[in-house]
Amino acid sequence: MLDYLITINGKKVGEHLEKMQVVNPATNEVIGTVPNGGEKESLLAIEAADEAFQTWSKLTAYDRAAYLKRLHQLLLEEDNRKMLAKTMTLEMGKPYTQSLGEVDYAASFVEWYAEEGKRVYGETIPSHMPNKRMQVWKKPVGIVGAITPWNFPLAMITRKIAPALAAGCTVIIKPSSETPITAVKFMEIAEQAGFPDGVINLVTGSSSQIVGTMMAHEKVRKITFTGSTEVGKLLIEQSAQQVKRLSLELGGHAPIIVLDDANVDVAVREVMASKFRNSGQTCVCANRIYVEKGIYDTFVERFAEAVSNLKVGDGLDETVEVGPLINEAGLEKVAHHVSDAVDKGASVVVGGNRIEGDGMFYEPTVIRDVTPSMIMMQEETFGPVAPIQKVDSAEEAVKLANDTEYGLAAYVFTENVSKGIEIIEQLNFGIIGWNDGVPSTAQAPFGGMKESGYGREGGREGIEAFLETQYVAISLSNE
Ligand code: NAP
Repeated sequence: MLDYLITINGKKVGEHLEKMQVVNPATNEVIGTVPNGGEKESLLAIEAADEAFQTWSKLTAYDRAAYLKRLHQLLLEEDNRKMLAKTMTLEMGKPYTQSLGEVDYAASFVEWYAEEGKRVYGETIPSHMPNKRMQVWKKPVGIVGAITPWNFPLAMITRKIAPALAAGCTVIIKPSSETPITAVKFMEIAEQAGFPDGVINLVTGSSSQIVGTMMAHEKVRKITFTGSTEVGKLLIEQSAQQVKRLSLELGGHAPIIVLDDANVDVAVREVMASKFRNSGQTCVCANRIYVEKGIYDTFVERFAEAVSNLKVGDGLDETVEVGPLINEAGLEKVAHHVSDAVDKGASVVVGGNRIEGDGMFYEPTVIRDVTPSMIMMQEETFGPVAPIQKVDSAEEAVKLANDTEYGLAAYVFTENVSKGIEIIEQLNFGIIGWNDGVPSTAQAPFGGMKESGYGREGGREGIEAFLETQYVAISLSNE
């Protein structure tokens, strides 16, 4: 077990602070500690980020890109890539091969925004007066607080800070207390990339103190948050005080619609990928599967067979496909959703039980004959449970899919192009996978409608979130 430290202004600090333990959910063993930082460390980080902003924001986009490209290369160096993947697997149980995939995904944001920073264009507006010139300039928003969840411990950091840094902002990272070691290791790699002191800072510890300090400080101009809708709503309230800019990537409750004319092989493969990646702990995971009546029994049978073959275990074993859940609370929530569904008349086809022994394991589970009154059809389950409801028509599926306060991701499986387009036009979700269970990528905008948040990460929109628009009216003196 190691005691890790945080980084403020390029220095490792926190050895004298109280420590927080980090537990491997596959074994329940403590794998390390990080400092329990709070207001004092946050203020130091803000001061450092402010000083660094004075020079970082004035570099050319090309100079900033050079740092980001070094970081991108270092993240993908085989030793670093494996070290980061192993850290994630130990810290939150993600199967190792998926952790390697997350390192690649995380690195892809760094590369993409290194380039996109060079395309932050302003505008020249035709003037209505001969002596006036009108322009739109873009400026970095300022110091950014980046608050990240545990389910993608590395990618949620880079998805936020790569565009922020490319735009000319300096950052303070506050990772989830479940997965702070990945953030510490990331900082070591950022240090190797040579970022100037204070450009990237990391504070672990009390979320209310760290985020509260950033919210209350006038120099922090933007908070970018990924996490639960519940905490997102608190941040909206807190941000009102100083009209702080916010980007919110919140919870989801993704519906999957499989129509009679779907290619069943494709649907089974993609729904498996969507549902069981990260043990069902992603914001875009299939939470509600609506299958049209003509294909329902075939789909359930084929899907259940594939699920029964999934290998569950400690993710360090490279053949494991489904790891543990993050903690006891996560496990209890899954068990509660399943017992509620069974009590209300659903049938378990595969799984349905906690796996006894060390670690937070739950069997990959398929449940049929679910109805909208069951909790799992209304709330994020965040576990390896696939509830499948029979529907009479595409219209019924769309109505059920939209009947939620969430609006992050939705999926449609049909080979009929006209029907696919008509359905997608009616779905109120920020991300749609059409015959595709894994749509996320660095170059496309990712984010939700309704209570799934606002703002987008990835793509052109991702860098706009860290830019202010400044309109400049110029009156020529010689006319
Ligand atoms: P969470 O409990 O909301 O925590 C997210 C972050 O907020 C953590 O760093 C946490 O720190 C911090 N936090 C907790 N309470 C806070 C408070 N009162 N004030 C300020 N910060 C606070 O979410 P999670 O359990 O880590 O992540 C799972 C959730 O994230 C799910 O709902 C999932 O759908 C969502 N998610 C959304 C996306 C997306 O892109 N839309 C992506 C991934 C996950 P501590 O750990 O120190 O408390």
